[in-house]
Amino acid sequence: MTPRVSHRRSCGPVRVPWRPRGPDIVGRAVIDLHVHSNASDGTDPPGAIPELAAAAGCSAVALTDHDTLSGLGAARARAAEVGVELVGGCEVSCAFSGASTHVLVYFVDHEEGAFHDELVGLRDDRVRRNRLLAERLIELGIHISYEEAVATAASEESLGRPHFAALLVERGAAESIPDAFDRWLAHGRPAFVPKARVLPGRIAAAARESRGVCVLAHPLSLELPPRELDRAVGELAGLGFVGIEANYASYPPEQREELAGLAARHDLVATGGSDYHGTVKAGLSIGRGRGDLEVQDEVLERLAARRP
Ligand code: AMP
Ligand code: ZN
Ligand code: FE
Ligand code: FE
Repeated sequence: MTPRVSHRRSCGPVRVPWRPRGPDIVGRAVIDLHVHSNASDGTDPPGAIPELAAAAGCSAVALTDHDTLSGLGAARARAAEVGVELVGGCEVSCAFSGASTHVLVYFVDHEEGAFHDELVGLRDDRVRRNRLLAERLIELGIHISYEEAVATAASEESLGRPHFAALLVERGAAESIPDAFDRWLAHGRPAFVPKARVLPGRIAAAARESRGVCVLAHPLSLELPPRELDRAVGELAGLGFVGIEANYASYPPEQREELAGLAARHDLVATGGSDYHGTVKAGLSIGRGRGDLEVQDEVLERLAARRP
């Protein structure tokens, strides 16, 4: 038996030195680079995220709430206690393909600077969108007030469509959260209200100024055929994106492999994560995804090596 090698690192500011490792090293720790807390639309408080990551055997976990860094302080404090590295990040929506284009931005902890300013604008627009969404539901005969919806979230700026989905289920207007999206909330459905989206070049520039890096989340959401996806990923790489989320927990193995190939062709890091949201997105766990996720910790080192 080869002894298990521990790659637990100390916590504190994210600082991951690049060091090449031989392929024969066994017992590498896994990581999860895509997790939501109730600082946005997940159901666990930020401090629970590193606990769950530690329990799953992760050496590092990235908290990537929508449009906000507000969970990072509590998550980082707890991460230090449980011996997990906390990567500061968030997820934002971009205007790019006709379909949804989400971007994961990493190593952006600071509540100041160009990237922070972009987030302020996105949060303001989220509040505007959510107010309109509640009004739309009332017009449709479903009485969910904006205030009631806010009361189910950790804060006004944390509120997202999954909170509305849970309320729709509670009111009997949908059978489940996915059903609430299918019937009411998804793009093209009666209660869909668009929210602001930033051009990918603008996010990449703001992230660069804040020494962060951009990764295309769940690339198949772009809903592009392979050749067009290849071209789109090339365009994002040209704008400064450093990776694509090839190992997305909800993709089958063949698709993950294809996406890893796509990353390699464009010299991008093939990242991965669960997109864990707690109870609002059933069947996913931190670090393990749907049971077969395995993102090696060297992926984080490769990402950190691309920091500007
Ligand atoms: P928001 O940022 O408030 O527009 O909400 C986006 C969140 O809604 C994402 O985190 C997704 O997980 C969730 N979501 C989007 N579309 C669906 C869908 N069709 N079914 C279930 N959840 C969805
Ligand atoms: Zn979400
Ligand atoms: Fe997303
Ligand atoms: Fe997400």
